[in-house]
Amino acid sequence: MVDSPSCVLCSCSQTQFWWEHKGFPFYCCSDCDLLFLAQTSLQEAMDRNKEIYDGIGQKVVEKVEEHQAGKREKHFAILRRLEPYRRTGKILDIGCGQGGFLRSAQERGWEPEGVELAPHLAKFVREHYSIPVHVGTLEDLELEEGSYDVIFFNELLEHIPQPRPFLTKVYSLLRFGGAIFLRTRNHRSFSASFCQEKWKELPFFSKGHVCFYSPSTMKWIFPQLGFRLRSLRTWGVSLHPRFASDTVGYRLAKVANKIMDPFAKIFRKGHRIEVLALKNK
Ligand SMILES: [Zn+2]
Repeated sequence: MVDSPSCVLCSCSQTQFWWEHKGFPFYCCSDCDLLFLAQTSLQEAMDRNKEIYDGIGQKVVEKVEEHQAGKREKHFAILRRLEPYRRTGKILDIGCGQGGFLRSAQERGWEPEGVELAPHLAKFVREHYSIPVHVGTLEDLELEEGSYDVIFFNELLEHIPQPRPFLTKVYSLLRFGGAIFLRTRNHRSFSASFCQEKWKELPFFSKGHVCFYSPSTMKWIFPQLGFRLRSLRTWGVSLHPRFASDTVGYRLAKVANKIMDPFAKIFRKGHRIEVLALKNK
């Protein structure tokens, strides 16, 4: 019997085996409710992240203008919510990819900067939009502390194997009163509970997802780090991966996804979580 690993967020030793997906074991922390890949697999996780991003980068670059056109209004909706926190105008997108959000921020008069692991994507953003992008992991970069109004990351936190030093660094880079805005996956969602190890967000091997959060994790970690939670919401239901496609169960589950979505929002059981939190003054 292998001992359960300590939690990678709160260091608690009260963790229990949760799921295994293709040989990768996930554990859940009884204190902070983080669901995480066992630490023995973390180096592998880091290497896998790099491989995945390099691959994604190569595919997406060609279609960037088309992609950006489809996302612009969504970006503007987020930027309107971030407007109250604008002072210097500096906004940082971590894991900026092809720079779509940065480009939208630039159009709205922000002073955007990106962080990206894949050098060819960073180069693309610099050349096409004249937006500075730092290459590397956030923890290794030397950026100006206390200088950003907003730090944004979308679908990134689930890839970060050691979230605490990462979030601590985010805190140090924000000015007092500045905002963090993020979206990630909710392992206490209807989708995760129903699909269990077939939950479509789970695969580490194909998606590089190593840590999953819940509303409880968010309510615990942000005040711990010196943030004030401004908004926490969830949405999205996806029950059909539990069934093989072309079965009756699959088709019924697709219908159930739509019916249950409003309840997921009300009860914070959607599979996507969004957090807006402010650095305390
Ligand atoms: Zn924990």
